[in-house]
Amino acid sequence: MEYRKMEKLGISTSLLGFGCMRFPTNADGSIDEKEALAMIDTAYQSGVTYFDTAYPYHGGTSEAVTGKALARYPRDSYYLATKLPIWDVKSIADAERIFHEQLERLQKDYIDFYLMHALNSAHWNVIKELGILAYCEKLRVAGKIKYLGFSFHDGYEVFEEILTSYKWDFCQIQLNYMDKDTQATLKGVALAEKLGIPMIIMEPVKGGSLAKLPHDGIDELFKKARPEASTSSWALRYVGSFDNVKVVLSGMSTMAQVEDNLKTFSDFEPLSEAEQRIIEQAAEALRKRVQNGCTNCRYCMPCPAGVDIPRCFAIWNQYHIYENVNETKWNWTQDIEAAKKASNCVKCGKCEQACPQHIAIREDLARLQEELDRL
Ligand code: SF4
Ligand code: SF4
Repeated sequence: MEYRKMEKLGISTSLLGFGCMRFPTNADGSIDEKEALAMIDTAYQSGVTYFDTAYPYHGGTSEAVTGKALARYPRDSYYLATKLPIWDVKSIADAERIFHEQLERLQKDYIDFYLMHALNSAHWNVIKELGILAYCEKLRVAGKIKYLGFSFHDGYEVFEEILTSYKWDFCQIQLNYMDKDTQATLKGVALAEKLGIPMIIMEPVKGGSLAKLPHDGIDELFKKARPEASTSSWALRYVGSFDNVKVVLSGMSTMAQVEDNLKTFSDFEPLSEAEQRIIEQAAEALRKRVQNGCTNCRYCMPCPAGVDIPRCFAIWNQYHIYENVNETKWNWTQDIEAAKKASNCVKCGKCEQACPQHIAIREDLARLQEELDRL
């Protein structure tokens, strides 16, 4: 397993981090606990030391399952990260209540990495107005959290303001070879490195979109260079090749994904210059196909009109990436109920306020309904 030193904190973490937002699920949508625990066991036993969950993941059940899985291991043998949902915090009393609930769910006395969740300009203002960081500092003094950071979904200017306004222990951004010019951007990666703030990466495989590519020459670029390597391993190696990236989070949903990721990180090789060029070629070809950058984060849900926004976008984007008409027809007619389709949108705009990718959701829903109905 590749480990990276966080010089600022004087600790080392496994470069592969286990993201606990996409656990396998049962037919009723609940976490398949037996399989999730087995996946965590495999990762832990292969050297993964960083586990990342959050208050809202899996409808609020991820923290409990993650805590239960890790309770079987010595507390000082792993790092546990979770996040404060700023959108649910209207007062310090709210922050306090949520934090104690988190400790209970996790069955832990302290949290190693505590993040202000999904910061953007509005959430940052709430943090400043309520004095949430001062509250977190008290938690640190009391030994309830070890390191304080934030995860981020906004533009570079906001990232720079947040990063330079406080002595953060670490920060977490979205980065993958398709998104290097959006959100914090590579400029943000360089800024964090300059400030000596360790960086954690989320969405390295873009919600799974970079795990399976079309067979019209894009995937072949990768296969030709490394026949034995999975397509997602390229995306993971891309972000792991930055020196200041200390943890690459992968939201694993199957044991096969855990095993493949372990292969990539157990003998980690940064991309060579020739491989960087292959990534560029693939990214260029893909950019021409994807319709929007939905990452399936589900922050836009639930929709008051019942639209399953990420599912609609997934079907639409997949159609444009793979151009598989039969599969798309099946997905659009059999795999999504009529009540969850885009046509139910009443254009209230609630989803667009929540979307960290700033997608024009209403406009895209109208386009996709028309296009997919035509197939
Ligand atoms: S704009 Fe449409 S999709 Fe978005 S929340 Fe409102 S009804 Fe739902
Ligand atoms: S539309 Fe936006 S908020 Fe909704 S799942 Fe996609 S990226 Fe997330």
